[in-house]
Amino acid sequence: MRAQPPGSHYIDGRYVAGEGPRRQSLYPAAAEPIAEIADATKAEIDLAIDAAERGFAIWRKTPPAERARVLRRAADILRRDNRALSELETLDTGKPLQETLVADAASGADCLEYFAAQAATLTGEHIGFSGDEGDFAYTRREPLGVCLGVGAWNYPIQIACWKAAPALACGNAMIFKPSETTPLSALKLAEALTEAGLPAGAFNVVQGDGAVGAALVKDPRIAKVSLTGESRTGSKVMAGAAEGVKPVTLELGGKSPLIIFDDASLDDAVGAAMLANFYSTGQICSNGTRVFVHERVKGAFIEKLLTRTAALKLGDPLDEATQIGPLISQAQFEKVLGYYEIGKTEAELLAGGGRAAVDGFPNGYWVEPTIFDAADSARVAQEEIFGPALTLLTFDDEEDVVARANATPYGLAAGMFTQDLTRAHRMAARLQAGALWINAYNLTPIETPFGGVKRSGLGRENGSAAIEHYSQLKSVYVALGGVDAPY
Ligand code: NDP
Repeated sequence: MRAQPPGSHYIDGRYVAGEGPRRQSLYPAAAEPIAEIADATKAEIDLAIDAAERGFAIWRKTPPAERARVLRRAADILRRDNRALSELETLDTGKPLQETLVADAASGADCLEYFAAQAATLTGEHIGFSGDEGDFAYTRREPLGVCLGVGAWNYPIQIACWKAAPALACGNAMIFKPSETTPLSALKLAEALTEAGLPAGAFNVVQGDGAVGAALVKDPRIAKVSLTGESRTGSKVMAGAAEGVKPVTLELGGKSPLIIFDDASLDDAVGAAMLANFYSTGQICSNGTRVFVHERVKGAFIEKLLTRTAALKLGDPLDEATQIGPLISQAQFEKVLGYYEIGKTEAELLAGGGRAAVDGFPNGYWVEPTIFDAADSARVAQEEIFGPALTLLTFDDEEDVVARANATPYGLAAGMFTQDLTRAHRMAARLQAGALWINAYNLTPIETPFGGVKRSGLGRENGSAAIEHYSQLKSVYVALGGVDAPY
């Protein structure tokens, strides 16, 4: 097998073969097996939790400056190994190398580096009550314990880093369960952290499906859960965590609006709309899948969009010239093609709409980048497809487009293109979303908090906001005088 790791799990600083039922990991471009990975058994889950508890006991006492050094070294290792990691991620996800070389391990390295800097600067505060000499209190920022990260399949190593880096920066240990579809790169992150000097057990990877995730969520030894996945999974994870009153961070689905006003730079807006729908073959949670275009520029916008979409290069994902890869799996392939059929009955199909034929890859999960012109009521305009499906909607009034953009249970992201600064900030205040872009789309620098509102999630990853979700404050009151008791 092309990408078989030495073991299925990574527990206590080393690979563990895995005794559970095995499943094949497929290269989505060809639907060919590249590795065979075992689901974690109950005993292996226990092994991971025991190791994490031991790792936590060491790591929480490690000086913050040393924690910072470990995370920074891990970032350097990811950068050093970026090409090999990118090729692995391409094999595991099907995403073109053109993307994985710049967006996956590379963004994971940025994340480790950013939280390395945070680790060294975490402090509590002093609260004085009666001048210099009186009672005071102080706060201690403490880790939570053994945290659980559960990942989706679209950005496997990036998601693992987005969870592990802030968790470790705060002195926690982590058990990470990748998506069963993309089990490989989190193991490489574990290797990098070990090489960087992380104590054994402070970061562990266990494989398996939702059942393994659910068992971990409910385990009383897990202190916190961070999930990236569908909104329905988010509800289940939240319910599981509620039993133990555990904090959760939920990065969930979306159906985000991208609004193009009639004063926008159309070339930029078209480029952003394509990035917001076709990058990673449309498998990005924050995608701007509802593209509202002002009726005065809609004709010109469509013309440019269709020309540039027709030029997209589908092909061998390991060829750096390839721009679009396959979908992740047979299930996602069927789901997206199903939506294409639904779209054809309820909207006007402007491009694509079917399975894509790609030379040399007859069995892969290839679909055409697809564009619909629809009404808001169409299912393709309402439901998260998670494929390269762009739905155009028309508007002519700001008030109206804000109301329509917000008319969704989701609230992950939103974008707008306009030259009118006042309007842009007015819109930014009124759109219901956790992440917004003005004259850009889908940029997620690690310094900026990321997360959703409404059914798109809870809590924030990235930025210093993430620290709040991986640490807790303890208040310590200090009395300097006698006790003034009324009895
Ligand atoms: P899923 O919700 O199907 O799975 C996410 C992870 O949760 C997987 O590891 C899955 O395991 C696991 N899981 C499933 N059921 C449970 C459970 N009951 N308890 C604990 N863990 C469970 O999402 P996908 O992997 O299909 O990813 C696509 C979704 O992720 C989309 O909705 C997308 O919008 C969202 N997403 C959100 C992002 C964000 O930052 N907001 C970013 C990226 C994606 P397994 O799959 O192995 O069975």
